[in-house]
Amino acid sequence: MALPAPHHGEEERMKNILKGRRAVITGGGRGIGRAIAARLSEHGATGQVFDLANVLDGATLPDGYSGRPVDVANEEEIRAAFEQVAGDGGQLNIVVANAGIVPVWRHSDGLDLEEWDRVFAINVRGVAATLKHAVPLMKDKGGAIVVTASINSLKGAALQGAYTSSKHALLGLVRCAALELGAHNIRVNALAPGPVLSEAMRERLRYRAGKGGPSEAEAEAQLAAQAPLNRVATEDDVADGALFLASPLSNAVTGHILPIDGGFGIA
Ligand code: NAD
Repeated sequence: MALPAPHHGEEERMKNILKGRRAVITGGGRGIGRAIAARLSEHGATGQVFDLANVLDGATLPDGYSGRPVDVANEEEIRAAFEQVAGDGGQLNIVVANAGIVPVWRHSDGLDLEEWDRVFAINVRGVAATLKHAVPLMKDKGGAIVVTASINSLKGAALQGAYTSSKHALLGLVRCAALELGAHNIRVNALAPGPVLSEAMRERLRYRAGKGGPSEAEAEAQLAAQAPLNRVATEDDVADGALFLASPLSNAVTGHILPIDGGFGIA
């Protein structure tokens, strides 16, 4: 049976649901972050992508977006970038704190603590610093903050101690920020993607294959088989979740984490 046609005017409403909104997306130069920037752009938002200079160099950004080189591990760079946003008129409605790194797989007893510090400097402190400097620009008018956490925020993952701990920490940050910022009409939520075959993820699978692990195709099939929907999520699936959390579609949602994982996390 054919699905019912959308309500009259519904498509138009969805298309323009972010019209006039200004967004900042960290780590938006490639991968999941870029897909999120593209989805927000399709629905009317404009803004800036903060990412590492070498990534922005080769990146084609979506319509309405400019790039700004920012290392989120460097608070001074974040402060200066948001100062520029403020100088450009100050309007900021959406922040997607997405920049993050995934280190190579490592046994917990072989943890490299320098690597641990680097993961936390980017994945946790980088998000905290992003919120610290973004929130003053949003306090007057309210807004939506979306943090890219991970399904690893909700479950353990062997050989990923530093990464998994960093993504668990983000849950605490999101919940505290949601409690503190609700009075300013700022909503704070997290996305929890399951395995997504971004280029970064494919690089890691190739690395593992090179170490005698399953081939890239076998690894993808194994990941899909762990999800009730028998597939991994795509960058576009995650971008759809970001659109929901960044838009008025989720006006009554704050402090939550939204798994986008084909059900991977409940298995
Ligand atoms: P990616 O490497 O393509 O994207 C990460 C982005 O962050 C890149 O553009 C990168 O340049 C940027 N970045 C890294 N360090 C930075 C820094 N110090 N300052 C500024 N920007 C920096 O990988 P991805 O798979 O698209 O991951 C995006 C986010 O999604 C990450 O937070 C990651 O942890 C999360 N995530 C990914 C998966 C997955 O399977 N791919 C699953 C769950 C969560």
